[in-house]
Amino acid sequence: MMDVAANLDTISSNIKQSCSKNNRNPEEITIIGVTKYVTIERTEETIQAGISNLGENRLEGFLEKYNYFGKRAKWHFIGTLQSRKVKEIVDKVDVIHSLDRLSLAKEIDKRTEQPMECFIQVNVSGEASKHGLHPDDVQRFVEDLAPYSNIRVVGLMTMAPHIDDEQRLRRIFRELVTLRDSIRDQKITYAPCNYLSMGMSNDYQVAIEEGATHIRIGSKLVGSKG
Ligand SMILES: *Cc1c(COP(=O)(O)O)cnc(C)c1O
Repeated sequence: MMDVAANLDTISSNIKQSCSKNNRNPEEITIIGVTKYVTIERTEETIQAGISNLGENRLEGFLEKYNYFGKRAKWHFIGTLQSRKVKEIVDKVDVIHSLDRLSLAKEIDKRTEQPMECFIQVNVSGEASKHGLHPDDVQRFVEDLAPYSNIRVVGLMTMAPHIDDEQRLRRIFRELVTLRDSIRDQKITYAPCNYLSMGMSNDYQVAIEEGATHIRIGSKLVGSKG
């Protein structure tokens, strides 16, 4: 398995290349190292390589890593979150990428001491296996969040299917961009919605070319096991 620093070098130069196509500044891109597949040791190596944003998709995996590393990293919860589990993570995670229903918003709002940064997860591709709101329901959902003053909508998140069809990937990412623009342009106090969490190992370069601000990379950065 390649070391994380070497993988990061490759990813960083790919990011630069994708940014240069659209005159974007690579500093606009936050790399979230997804450590769900790997051990504490490998996660330590990831932090040593300079990755300070880490992502976990399951409660147990997150708590294991958090209990060890604590605030040495900024923690992104990127997986499906059951409402009854919110109280176990709400004072530990920094950002939730999977807000997709009001019952979850209500629970986060109730449990958190300070406003929680959230991405609304949108199922753009329409795959039944993917979580997230239908694109047509996002506007209404944002409006319905108004009473929950501890929810701050920082952006939109999507997962594209694992495919090589670049044109289809671009269409999916563009739809999220359009939706983000329409929410952002309303200048809603609790929903600045500046960010786009899209792009994983398979498609982060395309996602950046289309405007991603947060890419979530597991296998190509830390590896997929061990
Ligand atoms: C696992 C996971 C990733 C990272 O996947 P890779 O393809 O290994 O980069 C990104 N986002 C979410 C929501 C995930 O569950």
